[in-house]
Amino acid sequence: MNDYKAPHGLLENKVVLVTGAGDGIGAQAAHTYARHGATVILLGRTVSKLEKVYDSIVEEGLPEPAIIPLDLQGATPNHYQQMTQTIKEQFGKLDGVLHNASVLGHLSAFKDIPADEWRTVMEINVNGTVFMTQALLPLLEQNDKASVIFTTSSVGREGRSFWGTYAASKFATEGIMQTLADEYRNKGIRFNCINPGATRTNMRAQAFPAEDPDTLKTPAQIMPLYLYLMGEDSEGITGTSVDCQPK
Ligand code: NDP
Repeated sequence: MNDYKAPHGLLENKVVLVTGAGDGIGAQAAHTYARHGATVILLGRTVSKLEKVYDSIVEEGLPEPAIIPLDLQGATPNHYQQMTQTIKEQFGKLDGVLHNASVLGHLSAFKDIPADEWRTVMEINVNGTVFMTQALLPLLEQNDKASVIFTTSSVGREGRSFWGTYAASKFATEGIMQTLADEYRNKGIRFNCINPGATRTNMRAQAFPAEDPDTLKTPAQIMPLYLYLMGEDSEGITGTSVDCQPK
């Protein structure tokens, strides 16, 4: 899957929503999906960053994207319902979702995790994903080849000292993906998780400030798996959690 060579028009005529599309892996995924023909809906909290991604896609002559400014912190199920209605009115369908937006929070001993930080990380990484998916499901259900990708981490499979909040949010992500995959088995929509592995982004630098970023893969280098799971070559694959950089 990681040496997958996507055909040029893999996502032609597809509408794909990418969360956290303004920076890091999300910005790269949005651009990569557009290069393969998708109309991408760029969702994020910093409009200037989304506009930069929008401009770079348009400058390349790729399908014109759309921007949805939304901060997952504080968004309610009602916001996600309105967002779904907007997508429905503007595009009439949705073929794929990449749930990519997340925050790391601060690394600390479990006993010291501040309650407000726990709530914030869970609201963005877990509640946002849950309520957005619930709102989008009726639209996705109209499409028997839809693909929903969640973003996990190695600490979403095995806990690690001092990573309690983020790790728990990624364990939840894996559980959400598995539940949905099971509920929708043989009903068309597929649900999978991607673990990007160590990748050169702001979040990685925040977690490992002493690390030389040049030793890490760039977001562009891990895109084959993002393309494979979004496109129809992965039809029938559901309930899996796959590494971009297997050990
Ligand atoms: P970045 O921090 O570079 O990007 C995260 C993106 O999510 C940003 O665009 C950010 O917006 C957006 N975001 C954060 N909070 C919110 C919010 N409240 N509402 C809307 N958007 C928000 O991280 P990465 O690109 O590294 O991470 C992408 C995914 O990959 C995450 O799910 C992360 O957990 C996962 N991951 C990354 C690894 C790595 O090594 N990089 C390893 C394992 C997993 P803004 O820029 O405006 O803050």
